[in-house]
Amino acid sequence: MRKTFKGIAVSSGVVIGKALVLPDQEMLVIKKAIPEEKVAGEVARFNAALEKTRNEIKIMHAKVKKEIGGKHSNIFEAHLMILGDPALTTDVEKHIKSEKLSAESIFSRSVNKLVESFEKIEDAYLKERANDVRDIGKRVFKNLTGSTRETLADIKDEVIIFARDLSPSDTVTMKREKVKGFCTDLGGKTSHTAIIARALEIPAIVGLQNISQNVSDGDLVIVDGSLGVIIVNPNEEDLKHYNRKREELIKQNAELSKLRELPAETLDGYKIELSANIEIEDEAKLVVKHGAVGVGLFRTEFLFLNRLDLPTEEEQYNSYFKAAEFLYPNSVIIRTLDLGGDKFLSHLGLSKEENPFLGLRAIRLCLARPELFKTQLRAILRASELKNLKIMFPMISGVEEFLKAKKLLEEVKSDLKKEKIAFDNEMDLGVMIEIPSASLTADILAKEVDFFSIGSNDLIQYTLAIDRVNANMAHMYNPLHPSILRQLKKIVMAAHKEGKWVGMCGEMASDTAFSALLIGIGIDELSTAPVAVPEVKKVIRSTTMSEAKKIAAEVLAFQTLDEVKLYMNAVNKGACKYCK
Ligand code: PEP
Ligand code: MG
Repeated sequence: MRKTFKGIAVSSGVVIGKALVLPDQEMLVIKKAIPEEKVAGEVARFNAALEKTRNEIKIMHAKVKKEIGGKHSNIFEAHLMILGDPALTTDVEKHIKSEKLSAESIFSRSVNKLVESFEKIEDAYLKERANDVRDIGKRVFKNLTGSTRETLADIKDEVIIFARDLSPSDTVTMKREKVKGFCTDLGGKTSHTAIIARALEIPAIVGLQNISQNVSDGDLVIVDGSLGVIIVNPNEEDLKHYNRKREELIKQNAELSKLRELPAETLDGYKIELSANIEIEDEAKLVVKHGAVGVGLFRTEFLFLNRLDLPTEEEQYNSYFKAAEFLYPNSVIIRTLDLGGDKFLSHLGLSKEENPFLGLRAIRLCLARPELFKTQLRAILRASELKNLKIMFPMISGVEEFLKAKKLLEEVKSDLKKEKIAFDNEMDLGVMIEIPSASLTADILAKEVDFFSIGSNDLIQYTLAIDRVNANMAHMYNPLHPSILRQLKKIVMAAHKEGKWVGMCGEMASDTAFSALLIGIGIDELSTAPVAVPEVKKVIRSTTMSEAKKIAAEVLAFQTLDEVKLYMNAVNKGACKYCK
């Protein structure tokens, strides 16, 4: 029977294929008694399974580190730590001896208890750790029972994976040429699965709630990763529609890839800096693949997520240097940590906040925890030896905050000088303009910084008082609101008056419906998702700056959102999702 589902679209593209449903292997709590004389043997069997699991994880760690890189292999270090947790090791041994129950009985009970206690925690980050414990538990359990579950690394045919959730060890070890897409019950836009899917450019949909119970192995499915739509057992019409859409996408991509080497230049010769946003250093290859010049936003907090410990200075250095080296001589703008908001890090021991988006987020957290901030600044400075890095501070609310952050940067520079460690002393230093207080004081900030980058995602959220992750309020989240457009113009004027450039790295820059308007307002750089680069480039290359300026002037004169929408809808011949 034909069924459709809608989830959170996290990685675009259309794929049609056979489903492979991964069973959610919850461990069965089978209470099995053992005679006294078998207790020692049972403990030995349990320890052997632990040892085998430890070795498996170490092998996986080495393999992933070699093939994909350090960032993705870190999770296995965390898994080794969990494996060493007394609740899962010494306690199990103790209870096998005292209760005279099988290793499976005691171990599954301990794992479930630990999972439960993680799940009870309100904090989103710690909650996610329950999955790690479950992942490890299943591995040990497999080695205890000798079961041979097919892993994603063993897949023989091309499939689309359906699962309750995919563990980090599943996603990093899967055979990429066989896995054409994945869909999971759990997960959000910033979950590990979502990030990996985008980095691998595999269509993916998460947060589907119970998709894994509604699809069977071998079902024919269509996954539209751009719309977050899944059709199970599609009819002839669906197949015709999506086969056409796929072909169009393939043709479009082939057409767009011809633009890779061409500049983002208007028909009347104005060059726009078109760069891309990345979240992990491996995405640098997508920046080149899609024809962007460098990185306009490196969201460095992703190195801090999905793990149990803090990344060391060395690890951070390696990540930044790898991106800088790969993209040299193009520049990479490293944004300092933007933790908080919807990106938590519980092991920093921060207290829970009622309104995390208005709380200790980004630069505020960094100024409150200078040791954390300075470690990152040291890593960035050390990675700047090729002279193609720039630093940008997020969530700056005014000039004092910028000067405080800059002072810490100066302190780190002077430490490095004392230690005779080379770095780029001339590195540009910019701020994100994403809080109305910063845009209202842009004239003051412009005197102090080298550049601005507008974070439209947050600027819209904080200006319109619309939570950017609240799906129920999404209808009121509109980049075309006159309050936003006026701010953009004021920010540009303030920067240009001081001879500074202005970029935009929020999602607004990735939407082709806004490209002409934004360059017409005077934005000098657009930094988009890597996949959006070719389309934005195409629009820029088919417009003139005089036309773009005319659009901007008309739009800025309107008083209401409705007028702007009507006008922009006409400009985009109906292809404008915010104009409806
Ligand atoms: C923004 O706010 O527009 C931005 C680019 O930063 P982030 O989405 O990481 O908050
Ligand atoms: Mg932001």
